[in-house]
Amino acid sequence: VEVVERVNRLDAILSAINAEMAAAPERGTVADYIPSLAKVSPDHFGIAVILADGSIHTAGDADTPFSIQSVSKVFTLTMALQKHGDELWSRVGREPSGSAFNSIVQLENEGGIPRNPFINAGAIVVSDVVLDGAEPRAAIGDVLRFVRMLASDEAITIDNDVANSEAATGFRNVALANYMKSFGNMDPYVEGALKLYFHQCALSLSCRQLAMAGRYLMNDGTHPQTGEAIISPLLTRRINALMLMCGHYDGSGEFAFRVGIPGKSGVGGGILAIVPGRASIAVWSPGLNARGNSKLGTHALERLADATGWSVFMPTL
Ligand code: GLN
Repeated sequence: VEVVERVNRLDAILSAINAEMAAAPERGTVADYIPSLAKVSPDHFGIAVILADGSIHTAGDADTPFSIQSVSKVFTLTMALQKHGDELWSRVGREPSGSAFNSIVQLENEGGIPRNPFINAGAIVVSDVVLDGAEPRAAIGDVLRFVRMLASDEAITIDNDVANSEAATGFRNVALANYMKSFGNMDPYVEGALKLYFHQCALSLSCRQLAMAGRYLMNDGTHPQTGEAIISPLLTRRINALMLMCGHYDGSGEFAFRVGIPGKSGVGGGILAIVPGRASIAVWSPGLNARGNSKLGTHALERLADATGWSVFMPTL
């Protein structure tokens, strides 16, 4: 009886959040520096919550695929740590940057070592590690298969229009990669890592699929359906720590302050958020705040955390 009440309560919370977000007049600004993202309507809002018992709870546009963009950095970081473990940390740091996701300023002072794996520079290094000298096509296929496996969903795809649109306009990312190459922190064939990076950012998932893909992060690194250890409990804890400290760039402090759980945002308006041991959550609303994080997505997670008491800073966990 208690379980049923709790679950009904969660569905009621999600539909109240959806109603509030559907009616919100201030929806933020859709990213337009990647031309094909500019076409998405700011009216969308979706949310999906998967509990540790496997039950799925959704509201709004939870089944509409969107471009996950920087949320993909969590999955490639997992792959890089799987492959190379602690060696990764000689090429990328673990400190919040306090600057914009696409900033270049720290790289000069810090010898071409990006602050963390979630700013663009750090994620491009991680893509270089995942590529590991292979053909970009093969590595793109590996990332796609990995995300499908995590989500238990073979229907997940990469939107090639988005990837090409970003490749044609991503001059800043090209600059970041070449700048790091000048410090010897990239394979000289930077085009390969960039190709992988643009394609992983173009992964297209719905909130339901993204919350499914994030389940291992609430589950000590183990795939809840197959029982396979995707990554160790220690590394899972570290990925969650990085998400909390760096997952929202120069808005990470504000996100921890308001929401209080690990989260990773993307300029497509998606956020993956993890309540360790309890829930994997995905929200999506394309309008962004000044820091490039989903405006209504953040509000929705704040409402959800308030209503459920979910927080890594609360003893109820
Ligand atoms: N593909 C985007 C970029 O590199 C990802 C940025 C993001 O989602 N914050 O600019």
